[in-house]
Amino acid sequence: MFVTGIMLCMKIASRLVAWQRTHGRHGLPWQQTQDPYRVWLSEIMLQQTQVTAVLPYYAAFLKRFPDVASLAGAASQEVMALWAGLGYYARARNLHACAQQVMQDWGGRFPPDTESLASLRGIGPSTAAAIASFCYAERAAILDGNVKRVLARYFAIDGDPTTRIIEQQLWQLARSELPTAAQVRQDPMMMSAYTQGLMDLGATVCTRARPQCTTCPLKKGCAAFAQGRTEELPWPRARKILPERSIGMLIACHDGHVLLEQRPDTGIWGGLWSLPEFDAALSADQGCTSYGLQISSTQTLSAFLHTFTHYRLTIQPILVRSRNHAFSAPAQRGPAQWIRITDIDRLGMPAPVRKLLDGLRADQLLD
Ligand code: SF4
Repeated sequence: MFVTGIMLCMKIASRLVAWQRTHGRHGLPWQQTQDPYRVWLSEIMLQQTQVTAVLPYYAAFLKRFPDVASLAGAASQEVMALWAGLGYYARARNLHACAQQVMQDWGGRFPPDTESLASLRGIGPSTAAAIASFCYAERAAILDGNVKRVLARYFAIDGDPTTRIIEQQLWQLARSELPTAAQVRQDPMMMSAYTQGLMDLGATVCTRARPQCTTCPLKKGCAAFAQGRTEELPWPRARKILPERSIGMLIACHDGHVLLEQRPDTGIWGGLWSLPEFDAALSADQGCTSYGLQISSTQTLSAFLHTFTHYRLTIQPILVRSRNHAFSAPAQRGPAQWIRITDIDRLGMPAPVRKLLDGLRADQLLD
């Protein structure tokens, strides 16, 4: 029988802050600022996304939108186009809406505390706390996936951390481990070092596989380490069998143009430009007919799988030569138009569609 983790554990704040200041990450571009716009942008981009993937997008966004006003005033198409490839597109829609909310409701300045920040579009409690601790030294607890893992191990918390009951337990621990108010008064930069320390420890030391316990500043007091349970904690998320869907996609070409349609603002790939779709139960000819295309040839390409968080989509691409630019998209679909092949790079597109078109263009099959 295990001694519970909580009984063994020592407070972590001072050790974590000392470690972050000497061993943590310091060179990331969003660490050089307390500007809430820049910190917010990085926090949204980093959700479920690796630092290396975020770096070029962060630089491109700041170059084009150096402040919240420029982002709020941009066309949504431009925001989506810059975001394309980073995934989880609801983040980009929320980012744009949030910038507009900051301009309209907060006079162009991000609100100054966790609670108000969490009232903005796309900012959850952990992201709000990260912004408030980095920019305003607020004693606010974060709880992203990495932090859940660190706390679940340090306190040897059994149970799936994505369930409500375990998540609440972890929130409670996250709050109880914050530096004290007296510590923060004495050292106002402590909160940002602590928050960054949790993030850095989860990303570089207390990693999902093979945590580096021997070099970990929290080794002393870590219940999972003491009990030899670092591999089994935290519990994995209960596996869900994802439903399967199939669609056909038309790559209709004519005279240096390809037919694209804009997806509705809500739902998968919301607002992005994609290829016309049709029910996989239909033949390629029926798919073309549903878009009123007058075709000279069709070619069935290799099907591929794309996995979303809640279902798996098999995409069957059909390369279609159209006789002319005539078409009539089905009534329930978004607006469609022929786009010059040389112009498709400036549109926001789902990554698998972009990859498909890039491959065909490289093979000169779109001409
Ligand atoms: S000792 Fe190991 S399991 Fe515990 S917090 Fe450190 S890296 Fe994670």
